[in-house]
Amino acid sequence: MTIDIRRAVVLGSGTMGSQIAAVVALAGYTTALVDIRQEQLDHARAELTKRLDRDVEKGRRERADVDAAWERLTLTTDRDAVAANADLVIEAAVEDLTIKRSIFAELDAVCPPDALLVTNSSNIVSSRVADATERPGKVCNLHFFNPALVMACVEVVPHEGTDPETVEAAVAFVESLGKTPVKLKKEVPGFLANRLLNALRREAVDLYEDGVADFKDIDLAAKTALGHPMGPFELMDLVGIDVVYLIRLAEYEQTGDPASLPAPSITQKYEAGDFGRKTGRGWYEYPAE
Ligand code: NAD
Repeated sequence: MTIDIRRAVVLGSGTMGSQIAAVVALAGYTTALVDIRQEQLDHARAELTKRLDRDVEKGRRERADVDAAWERLTLTTDRDAVAANADLVIEAAVEDLTIKRSIFAELDAVCPPDALLVTNSSNIVSSRVADATERPGKVCNLHFFNPALVMACVEVVPHEGTDPETVEAAVAFVESLGKTPVKLKKEVPGFLANRLLNALRREAVDLYEDGVADFKDIDLAAKTALGHPMGPFELMDLVGIDVVYLIRLAEYEQTGDPASLPAPSITQKYEAGDFGRKTGRGWYEYPAE
């Protein structure tokens, strides 16, 4: 049986949810972007308007496509009204297991029984929310990357009980967005891309902490020998050392493996409030303009 997706709801209008909703609306779906805070929705509307208008100015999108997407996109705090007609809900709310579990239980109660409920979580695997619903077979991770309007990859991650039809529908949906679905056969914390990134980051920090090379030279090697656009230390400053620290802690909570804990130099920067670009200092200095 194929699953027909026409109406989508994106829950959470922050960094990820707002752009995911735009991607979905641009692809032709009737889309609702939901948040619990009206001011966050207003902010999302303003940010999306700026970004999509800039895309039109730069010739990356057609004005008519953007206008048509706005016609299809509703921003609302009335979650239950839009969820009642949804074929697919993409949850992109805060990274908190208790909150996500209650969201999934509530969605399960209001969405049509056939609707797929997926989470964009980077670290919480879907088996941890699926059992809060009566439809675990219709739950999986659909992991977009930041910025979702630009990045091609979307990881499709089933848990042990996800129905094969759900995976099939999720892959077809991602393709219909013009994105590249990357399928995992089973769930693992961090999925693929972030695990690869974390492995490189961990090795880079180990080499630095062992005194093998200065962090700037490690960045140079990654850029000039591996062809990476940014070195691992530059990337940590961009993403935020606070985010890097919290990701490691979340991984430790799931694996219990002390190797998952943040490295001493990361912990030291986190405790000093040196989060990278956003605070003006991380591995590198960013003097105010
Ligand atoms: P964010 O903090 O920018 O946005 C979260 C939004 O969810 C906020 O606007 C908040 O008001 C809203 N919210 C909270 N509770 C809600 C509820 N019950 N119903 C509806 N909305 C609610 O967070 P983000 O960075 O967009 O991350 C969202 C999810 O996406 C997380 O699970 C995160 O792991 C995942 N993710 C983040 C990134 C990233 O780079 N930021 C990348 C991939 C995946």
